[in-house]
Amino acid sequence: MRPTNYYEVLGVDTNSHESEIKRAYRKLAMKFHPDKNPDEAASEKFKEISHAYDILSDPEKRELYDRYGEEGLSGGGSNTMTPEDIFASLFGFSTNMGGSGFTRQRRGEDIVKPFNVTLEDLYNSKTAKISLQRDVVCSVCHGKGSKTGATRKCHSCDGRGVKVAMRQIGPGMIQRINTVCAICDGAGEVIREKDKCKKCRGKKVVEEKKKLDIFIEKGMQNNQKIVMQGEADQEPGVETGDVILVLKQKPHDRFERQGNDLKTEVNISITEALCGFSKVLVTHLDGRGLIINQPPGEVIKPGSIKCIPNEGMPQYKRPDFKGNLYVKFTVEFPSPLWITPEKLKELEAFLPPRKEEDSSTKPEISDEVQMIDGNFSEYGSKKGKGGNIWDEDDEEEDEDDDDDTPASCAQQ
Ligand SMILES: [Zn+2]
Ligand SMILES: [Zn+2]
Repeated sequence: MRPTNYYEVLGVDTNSHESEIKRAYRKLAMKFHPDKNPDEAASEKFKEISHAYDILSDPEKRELYDRYGEEGLSGGGSNTMTPEDIFASLFGFSTNMGGSGFTRQRRGEDIVKPFNVTLEDLYNSKTAKISLQRDVVCSVCHGKGSKTGATRKCHSCDGRGVKVAMRQIGPGMIQRINTVCAICDGAGEVIREKDKCKKCRGKKVVEEKKKLDIFIEKGMQNNQKIVMQGEADQEPGVETGDVILVLKQKPHDRFERQGNDLKTEVNISITEALCGFSKVLVTHLDGRGLIINQPPGEVIKPGSIKCIPNEGMPQYKRPDFKGNLYVKFTVEFPSPLWITPEKLKELEAFLPPRKEEDSSTKPEISDEVQMIDGNFSEYGSKKGKGGNIWDEDDEEEDEDDDDDTPASCAQQ
């Protein structure tokens, strides 16, 4: 049997915030609660989601589960909460609902915004401020919209907030559609002009500008969410939603990140590649130099990759543990004519011997040809026409005798 993935059971990401887990559970619990859904499959499902929520809503249990899976949990104190207990603890009422049904407070929308961060921010941590414009319940009328709270039923919708419209969708076919009443905005009641609160003009809410402190923790990932509970638009009688910032990591000019590992490219000279070096090879994201002592004789080949353990990104919530830093080397060769032919002869004496020509594979006929600088951006472009020198199915081109010579490398 495959072990249950509690995140999958609740349909949430592994890095979901507590509030998201709570919301996911609440939604599923409403659907599968035995009072609503008496069949056996639903009751099993209800037990499963309640158990998953019990684990993931408890930071300690969640940490154990994240690290060691279900096995990590079996050692601890056994779970005595029944699914009904868990459910009741969340909704704060007795499970004995006696058919009264669900009288849950409606929840307002979340505000989801992208938030740009640098790799340095994610490495070093950072506090930032964001300013937010949001609706708050009017402090003068306390969300009633009028001094006395006096309202009258909206006549347009007869207090229902919705209006039914008929629409003909085909011959003899009429569809009933519900639309939000435009007169009362779906509230079902209206306030007389002279009763309206002066501050919010009867709208019950006013706009407010607010600054929020956010803390970017070490090791946070691209697309990770920072949830500020209850900071979204307020609405009277509605549970306020959250402001959710989604971190967007800007590309870095020197480092690439994959999970907690980093990758960078370093350019060394041919002398360093052959004779070793002792120097700051990489300047890290915190400005610290990483000194590498590369002993002479340990040749670094162009394109080779080395790993510096524990110099990657810090782990989220455990910043003392870090990933690895991978370094890819490019080796810089000297420019043409950097040394006299005489000196070059001397140098050659120290270098490994030339490659011998293998007489068994040597062609019978050989031509001496010229070699000039080439450029792959021109490779395949037939005299700038966008054709291909190897492309022989192009009949029109084949008839054109002038074009039969292969494209030459353009000189830079
Ligand atoms: Zn008001
Ligand atoms: Zn209305």
